Amino acid sequence: MPNGYWGKIIFVNLSIGQIEVEQPPEEIYRRYLGGYGLGVHYLYQRIPANADPLGPENVLAFLPGLLTGSGAQFSGRFMVAARSPLTGAWGDANCGGNFGPALRGAGYDGLFISGQAKKPVYLFVDGEKTEIKDASHLWGLDIRQTEETLHEEIGLQAKVACIGPAGERLSLISGIVNDDGRLAARCGLGAVMGSKKLKAVVARGRSRLPTNSLSLASPKAFKDASTGYLPLFRRKPSTMSARVPAFMGFLLPIIRRLRGQLSGGPAEMVVDSYKRYGTSAGTAMLVELGDTPVRNWSGIGFRDFPLELSEGLSDRAVVRPMVKPYACHSCPVACGGIVNQPDGGTSHKSEYETLAAFGPLLMNSDLGTVMRCNHVCNMSGLDSISAGVVVAFALDCAEKGWLPPELAVELPLEWGSGEVILELTQRIAARTPGLGDWLADGVQRAAERLGPEAQPYAIHSGGQELAMHRGIYEPGVAVGYALDPAPGRHTASNSGNANLAAFAPYFALLGRKPAARYDYAEKGVTQAIAMSLYRAFDSLGLCQFALAMGQPPFLAWLNAATGWGVDEAEFYRIGRRIQVMRHAFNARHGLPAQFPLLGHERGDPPQTLGPVANRTLDMDAIATGYFATLGLDPLTGLPLPETVKELGLEIVPSP
Ligand code: SF4
Repeated sequence: MPNGYWGKIIFVNLSIGQIEVEQPPEEIYRRYLGGYGLGVHYLYQRIPANADPLGPENVLAFLPGLLTGSGAQFSGRFMVAARSPLTGAWGDANCGGNFGPALRGAGYDGLFISGQAKKPVYLFVDGEKTEIKDASHLWGLDIRQTEETLHEEIGLQAKVACIGPAGERLSLISGIVNDDGRLAARCGLGAVMGSKKLKAVVARGRSRLPTNSLSLASPKAFKDASTGYLPLFRRKPSTMSARVPAFMGFLLPIIRRLRGQLSGGPAEMVVDSYKRYGTSAGTAMLVELGDTPVRNWSGIGFRDFPLELSEGLSDRAVVRPMVKPYACHSCPVACGGIVNQPDGGTSHKSEYETLAAFGPLLMNSDLGTVMRCNHVCNMSGLDSISAGVVVAFALDCAEKGWLPPELAVELPLEWGSGEVILELTQRIAARTPGLGDWLADGVQRAAERLGPEAQPYAIHSGGQELAMHRGIYEPGVAVGYALDPAPGRHTASNSGNANLAAFAPYFALLGRKPAARYDYAEKGVTQAIAMSLYRAFDSLGLCQFALAMGQPPFLAWLNAATGWGVDEAEFYRIGRRIQVMRHAFNARHGLPAQFPLLGHERGDPPQTLGPVANRTLDMDAIATGYFATLGLDPLTGLPLPETVKELGLEIVPSP
């Protein structure tokens, strides 16, 4: 058993009820680390070319990272991966909470599920014992009911990753949920789980790796790395940082007029901000600066959704109904929060992506509506970004008179109408015949039912609804949207952010600096580097927010756990290998190397006002740098012969 790993992976075939455990050689772990890395290694081999994403041949993977559950700070993540039914491409999603550490603690480094059960089942992973169990009594329950029922039957120690009604009904914008409403949301992987009639995976973890000295190469070095990082989080939050939101109200209009940029600020301030507000601290700022899409990508933030409106969906307003903060497993920050809901009961605090998708995107400034819609998405297992985007599309089409008569009469669809937005979200979650069914499979398919004039208003890349950051504000995020093998996602590029202290040694090693914002040729190069580093970092099972908080000692943890002595060059090579293999997966399934961005998102025509006025992205220049840096053929996405050799890949290269 390699240090830092259990050395075991479970493969389940639900069609024949088969459960097998494999022990990968250490070399596989060193080449792919865990998480997305292990996922792409196995899914490339095991999903046949052109397999139906909702058929038995698709394989759904649940993947803790190398450090998940290790006790290292920020190590509570798990990942899911499969061929996406929404895009047909490589699909993956990432989530915090407590399920990942429980799966790891149950003694496995990954779980791969193929086939389809004949009736609803759940999978119980409990140490040496893995069982396929009947889930007929769970089918139809929402997320909270499912978790509560399983906790009553098995005990609170068991952690649950499950689908809600949206996944059961094969909504292509459904996700996989843990901890009462936290979603691995993107790529429609909830529908893959639903197609397998798999209601839940339940894991009962027994062990924490660092308490088992046999498992770690150097427990002392591991502990020292964590101890050295801890003081950043132990300091008392400054009273100064509490006043930042008030200052920003004054400063933002000036910064916007000067077309200024804001960086994350000193690590201490970032930690304070996350502790107080989570990601909601960014809403008003990002609307004002032109990053947040407004009115289905056609609006201009400061004009159409000014500070007086966006402040009600930001920082202090969002945490006002908070009952208590909470943290993912092993997190010293606790950026999450439980809030009192407007209609009674409690739910998760709304975070930036949801606030933006149900706020300015829909011209809605009522926080109560956002909170209700957030809860609907959490309980039904619906991706709140995609749900907001399809609602925005419906409102836009209704205003333009493009809806077929039978849909147009169903609801009085109007921008900013809270009750109607909530009702429509509930209908999508339930796939109600009519508007709900029309929108439940995402904006690309919804647009196909309308005339060609509607297509430019369906904002997606490769079928995946874009996240709430604009490529014309930060072209780095457009690289993730258009060029990452799982298109349309801001987390592919951490919202386009390459300028991190933690990545500085890697850029120095490669003789580069993160590109200036609108230096298109260099942007492609440096995003290819950053996105490779993100894939390796993700595969450790750490939260990307940590990278804005000082210098998380991820390489020290990796080496203390495994004893390998991975240096910066090898870490980058691992990340590049994972990124290249994700591209190779798409090539194997006949997909193009890149996914076009619609005119709105490229700034074609450009906006005429505001901080991103007159900006049009040069995606060709970006793509040239990106594919050259990764060593890929820009047409096929396949690795070039020298890339295959350099990264030691076992796939057919591009000639
Ligand atoms: S910063 Fe927030 S999302 Fe990240 S691990 Fe901590 S609580 Fe979870």
